[in-house]
Amino acid sequence: MKLDGKVALITGGNSGIGSATAALLAKEGATVVLTGRNQARGDQIAQAITEAGGRAIFLRADVRVADDCRQVIEQTLERFGRIDVLFNNAGVYHPRTVPECTEQEWDETIDSSLKGAFLMSKYALPSMIERGSGSIIHTSSGWGIQGGDHAAAYCAAKGGLVVMAKAMAIDHGPDGIRVNCVCPGDVDTPMLPDDAGRRGMAWDDYVAGASDRPLGRIGTTEEIARAVLFLASDDSSFITGEALVVDGGGIAG
Ligand code: NAP
Repeated sequence: MKLDGKVALITGGNSGIGSATAALLAKEGATVVLTGRNQARGDQIAQAITEAGGRAIFLRADVRVADDCRQVIEQTLERFGRIDVLFNNAGVYHPRTVPECTEQEWDETIDSSLKGAFLMSKYALPSMIERGSGSIIHTSSGWGIQGGDHAAAYCAAKGGLVVMAKAMAIDHGPDGIRVNCVCPGDVDTPMLPDDAGRRGMAWDDYVAGASDRPLGRIGTTEEIARAVLFLASDDSSFITGEALVVDGGGIAG
């Protein structure tokens, strides 16, 4: 098992990529702390992991709120004594151009991804620095590396995460802490049907468009989870400041 005895904290752990990653990290021996705003869904995911033989709890937190982030880190440290892996994965997407995007949508997009990753890292880092080790992974996107249509705030948030990871890698490499991004392409989670609906597109047409990439399909949550496991574990011990694109070749061209 690649994460035996480790403690992993996952934001947005109660859905999609986060819940698949929680299940995989738990299977690899980690004690997993999931966060999100929806308590019922979080409890359900934690229970499913426990029933499968893993160790998981859900702690409610809105990553846009500093006190929530501080409390979830404090509770994790009080309960389990350490945080080895921080997966900053929470995020929302509003399909908007700049003129269409409201200030509230801009703030929600930036704050749930970029500010949330900043706040969680800010409160987790002191204990990692003290222990001299840790792996922090942010969920960016292919659209954190190249632009996409109707996604100005989202691209700003995800692009910000890529460069923030590099800056953090420079600051905290000497502390024994690695910081990387995973950059998924289109992945089968609740985010995609939501986007299709808001763009007024039929699901089949949407998926056909999203599958127009070298590997000819959208990704699964498990495929992203395996990349996160790689970045979380010692298998990537000499990798920091990297943005690992997992998108079936979507931005290869
Ligand atoms: P999802 O199933 O909708 O998951 C989003 C997660 O973020 C949920 O667990 C949600 O939990 C959490 N979240 C959102 N705002 C939050 C907040 N303010 N505080 C705490 N948690 C919050 O979609 P997903 O596709 O798995 O998304 C996970 C990450 O992957 C996101 O950062 C997304 O941008 C990124 N991504 C997804 C794709 C894709 O194609 N699916 C591609 C590239 C990148 P609550 O609702 O309980 O708050």
